[in-house]
Amino acid sequence: MECATVCKFCSPILLSPRSAVVRKRKQQLSNHNKFKFCNSKFKIQALHSAQTHLSSEVAAEKSQSSTDFAIGELVWPSPSDEIPFWKKDFPSWGVNPEVPVDIKKDSNPMHIIHITAEMAPIAKVGGLGDVVTGLARACLSRGHTVDIMLPFYECIQKQQIKDLELVTTYNSYHDGNWIPTNAYHGLVSGISVIFIEPSNQFFKGQNLYGGSYNELEAYLFFSRASLEWMQVTGAQPDIIHVHEWQTGALPLLYWDMYHYLSLKKPRLVLTIHNMEHYGECTKEQLSKSGLDGFTYATIEKAVDDRTIGHNPERLSLLKGGIVYSNAVVTVSPTYLKETLCTGWLASTLIRNRDKYFGILNGIDTAMWNPATDIFLPAKFNAQNPEGKKLCKYYVQRGLGLASEGILDGNHVLDMTHKVPLVVCITRLVPQKGLHLISHAIKRVEELGAQMVILGKTSDGRVEREFEGLAKLHNQGPSIRILLMFSEELSHMLYAAADIVLVPSMYEPCGLAQMIGMRYGAVPVVRKTGGLADTVFDMDDQSNHEMANGFVFEGIDGGSLDSALNRALAHYRQKPDEWNGIVQKVLELDNSWNNTAGKYIEVYNSVRVRL
Ligand code: ADP
Repeated sequence: MECATVCKFCSPILLSPRSAVVRKRKQQLSNHNKFKFCNSKFKIQALHSAQTHLSSEVAAEKSQSSTDFAIGELVWPSPSDEIPFWKKDFPSWGVNPEVPVDIKKDSNPMHIIHITAEMAPIAKVGGLGDVVTGLARACLSRGHTVDIMLPFYECIQKQQIKDLELVTTYNSYHDGNWIPTNAYHGLVSGISVIFIEPSNQFFKGQNLYGGSYNELEAYLFFSRASLEWMQVTGAQPDIIHVHEWQTGALPLLYWDMYHYLSLKKPRLVLTIHNMEHYGECTKEQLSKSGLDGFTYATIEKAVDDRTIGHNPERLSLLKGGIVYSNAVVTVSPTYLKETLCTGWLASTLIRNRDKYFGILNGIDTAMWNPATDIFLPAKFNAQNPEGKKLCKYYVQRGLGLASEGILDGNHVLDMTHKVPLVVCITRLVPQKGLHLISHAIKRVEELGAQMVILGKTSDGRVEREFEGLAKLHNQGPSIRILLMFSEELSHMLYAAADIVLVPSMYEPCGLAQMIGMRYGAVPVVRKTGGLADTVFDMDDQSNHEMANGFVFEGIDGGSLDSALNRALAHYRQKPDEWNGIVQKVLELDNSWNNTAGKYIEVYNSVRVRL
């Protein structure tokens, strides 16, 4: 039986009576838990802080493969730490840049240049950054030459770029002027990147998006400057791969301008990661790139169909990109079907159906690898999952969540299946099911589980709503709402989680559920887009082989509950079965190795040999 002790200042700490040694350890633990959260911004006020340095080397359980994940000196975190545990100094991103030798090389290798607004980990807001880096690495492994072109955002942390050097200084056109521009080259987690830095105000500021310059014009500039760079350096890749609305104008610039100059060989592939953002643009704005914006205001070209007959009519850079690219890909087969049926771009996609493909995203398993992840206090994998318990305990301690773990050295002895930890790591935007996320907080608390939300929003109203929730819950023992972006903490949370929640209203692909599974968290998701392609319900008897999570369909709280209740009940009442699901998701291969080949097929179908 367990007992709950409630100290004067803090949350209940669940303790399991054991031997004298364990009791002594309990005492140490309870000393560590004397703190409280004092506000929603996650400032933590120390009431008693006696940091323990536990320094035993504990070999994780020997597995069949005899993988050992030794834990070195571990400093247990506490909410009273001056520097939160996810902000301490980590070694550089420990991604091995070497190409794995066991990947089969493709015949007829090609040169691919991605032109993108995001790249993980140095310039990432959501999945776009992950996808570009992961796909680039997968193609490199298969023997292709790959470069990524990225705006040189002022906020990029330069220490994450290896061998950074200025390679070209040139001028690129914008709004009647030729803007002096620098191109730098460097390596980011083993991938070659060209950074475009204009001498004007574009891409300045502390965030990737939302700076005090005109974003649409900045990306129009970037699109042209990327082609201009190829023109001045003589680069002739086989494939120029553009992403999202930000680089949607590039195919127009290519076919109607640079192809008449020296760029003859490249062919264009566009990936649409999210149809919600379509790059609304006036004709005058497009003209600032040097094209005649007025000639694109037709149904067949780039007009936003909904504005026809309005004054003024507007253009969509995403639509232009669809029309002018040689191939268009979206990020899951189900989202492909959905986008052909709904939304104003459906008619354009139907017209271009023969060049429109749905390819499921993969995850970058070099970046997301619980066996090597530098942010984790303990490593683990399917053969040796023991470290996951320690990650959960570490996060619970660091965030001041009630914890039932009992330590022997660095080894978590007692992690009874009583308090499941649910995590939700997301941009806080309506697409992600904000009302369901707040509903889940209440439900998880009622059911005696724990939940951590790591979410970022740039919408003041949403910020205030979640700040209110944080104020209400962050002082308690079971819910933490952290309103920020932290790559480091996201890795630790996936590793700590028993359940990863993705209750999206729509989800083109979704990486959170796939990353969660890679880190042994069982997904609870709404059946939409890529979530429907990657998560299969445990209680669906017709598909038991694929079953790997809990799925709901409706958009109301009751529907979410139907999946969450089942997941939590499973966790508590059928621990062996639960461990089986954890084992299964740890073993799943959602890597790019599975799907990069489909991109190669698309590239091959459009490339030309001059
Ligand atoms: P989307 O691209 O719509 O944001 P995805 O699920 O495809 O959603 O990808 C989200 C990616 O961004 C994942 O790598 C996720 O871990 C990361 N992410 C989202 N929000 C945060 C956050 N607040 N802090 C750290 N990482 C985040």
